[in-house]
Amino acid sequence: MRPAVAALLGLAAACGNASPTRSPTRIVLITIDTLRADALEQMPETLAFAEHAIHFEEAFAATATTQPTHASLFTGRHPWQHGVTRNGQVLARSLPTVAERLRERGFETVGIAASFPMERRFGFARGFDRYHDTFRERYVREWEGETLEGGGFYSLADDITARALDELKRAEGDLQFFWFHFFDPHDPYGDRLEKGSARIGIGELLAAAAGQDPRASDLVARAKGLYERDVQALDRSLVPLFAALDRDAERIPTHVFFTADHGESFGESGCLGHGKRLVREQVEVPLFYVGPAAPGGRGGSRQDSCGSVDVAATLLAIGGDRGPTSGRDLFASSDNPPVALGMRRTFVGNKFELMLDGSRLAIEGERFFFAGDGRLLSGNADHLFLEDDPTRELSGGTQLEIRELFRTFQSCLEGLETEELTGHEVREALRALGYTD
Ligand SMILES: [Zn+2]
Repeated sequence: MRPAVAALLGLAAACGNASPTRSPTRIVLITIDTLRADALEQMPETLAFAEHAIHFEEAFAATATTQPTHASLFTGRHPWQHGVTRNGQVLARSLPTVAERLRERGFETVGIAASFPMERRFGFARGFDRYHDTFRERYVREWEGETLEGGGFYSLADDITARALDELKRAEGDLQFFWFHFFDPHDPYGDRLEKGSARIGIGELLAAAAGQDPRASDLVARAKGLYERDVQALDRSLVPLFAALDRDAERIPTHVFFTADHGESFGESGCLGHGKRLVREQVEVPLFYVGPAAPGGRGGSRQDSCGSVDVAATLLAIGGDRGPTSGRDLFASSDNPPVALGMRRTFVGNKFELMLDGSRLAIEGERFFFAGDGRLLSGNADHLFLEDDPTRELSGGTQLEIRELFRTFQSCLEGLETEELTGHEVREALRALGYTD
């Protein structure tokens, strides 16, 4: 097996010499649901908070779906290792979470979730001393001829910020870990519109696109505008949180990681929403770090590719836990081993997609695809060609490597018994949030 493949599979030797962290430390992970990397430009308050941050310019979410990426952020494992490859699945108890590992080291741990997929029933509350998963917003959606509605699907940023401020005040220990989740950019687009104004839901966009409605492109452009408004409103709602973190940092060294679980498509690559494909606008996410752990204590820009598992590894390392993960401590010197940036599995045709260091790989039954530099490869079990140039076949080594990876993913996943909640209420709630597979 090539070293690169071994590193991808998390088979590299783990260094397990954890040293206890005893000096006061506050670690904060902020995940913004559905925030595209370029949406950060719409967030002047966040950029002001990040003025001295380290910006990771090539950061990718583990997947384009809420639960699988959070499972990677929470365990430091790739999706084929933690088994959560779609919403509705339960994070296996056998996998220690970042919150559990930090709590074992004496951290007080608090999680504040903003939407239904992160409810405790899916296993994400494990390790948190206090976990908030009650939501305010009702949801009404027309979906495939039915009206879906219910309460408690998600909360908007003012509510999450208020809870976060309470929890920051309440925390007493010298060692603190917080996870704050914000959901505003997720559809419906236009959450902050006046009552009675038309929000746009992803179902409406998909229906217009599928029906080849001539107004579809206008609708998509309007949805994008509303998305940006939601992002700007979120940005303003974060101001009190950033102010509190800045103020408290004078008394407790504070490490803030800011990222997203996935982005969002508005017609790019023929896609809408998220979760169906691993295209750049769905997996490229903002990632910055504010705090004293940066080498030299200075901010700046980093160009090396990194992903959700690396965020987990870095959080743990700051907390004094250098035990095994599949990620790398972003502040330790390394040769930047390749990181698998994402994978999703659909159950239609047993198709896998993998985002790998800026290239996209996919397999579907006996067909393989590989997109490097935006070029698709296709073929069968024996030969892989550039799709737009059938005379150019992939090198035998690369073909073998791709097959080896996918075989391994498949057997890893088959070896995990990931529980899935399939009750009516869960199915309806996920459908109401736009998750249909
Ligand atoms: Zn999400």
